[in-house]
Amino acid sequence: MDLNLEAAFDEPVDLSHEFEIPAGRLERPELVSLSKVSFTGRLERADLGFLLEGRLAFSGVVGCARCLAPVPFVRKEEVSWTFMPAHEKPLEKVKAEKPRADKPRAAKPAGKTAKAGKGAEKDDEDGDELSVKDLDIVYYDDFVVPFDPLIEEQLQLELPMKELCRADCRGLCPQCGADRNAAPCDCAPPPDERWKTLKTILETDDKN
Ligand SMILES: [Zn+2]
Ligand SMILES: [Zn+2]
Repeated sequence: MDLNLEAAFDEPVDLSHEFEIPAGRLERPELVSLSKVSFTGRLERADLGFLLEGRLAFSGVVGCARCLAPVPFVRKEEVSWTFMPAHEKPLEKVKAEKPRADKPRAAKPAGKTAKAGKGAEKDDEDGDELSVKDLDIVYYDDFVVPFDPLIEEQLQLELPMKELCRADCRGLCPQCGADRNAAPCDCAPPPDERWKTLKTILETDDKN
């Protein structure tokens, strides 16, 4: 789905869409399955560009980080993006920018961008404040911005990390692979790595 920013030029536009994103595309090995991702929100004009605020809802199944058992999850998240014309992009950021924000740049009718910035010639010298605020800013050269990459990026942030089937999951035995939740195995406990590290530190200290 593409966002047409220009549609919100005069008045806000309500949007809703269901994205079908194959779990494999997100390159998260622990992700077993992912439902449709529904977005509802509102696109409106902001100071220098446009603001899109809304809510993402999705669910799915991930593998337990310790024993790989399937763990279902449900997510409902508030999301927002600020769209700014490319000429508002702070110069020092251009080189460091990741490819994602540059993506909409593929189509490049240069003349169009000036229009969105008009009427707000505010000096953009925020200097050091760029960091956090800047994360959700999408710079555009064209009023038509592909929405799917933004949704996928958001999913990467919001998919569960290291989910456990239960807090005290015993996990798989690193030696024989048995599920230790089902039954203890007979493997000897591995040597404690912490002592090894301490030993190395002590030995290094001795040499100095
Ligand atoms: Zn588990
Ligand atoms: Zn074992």
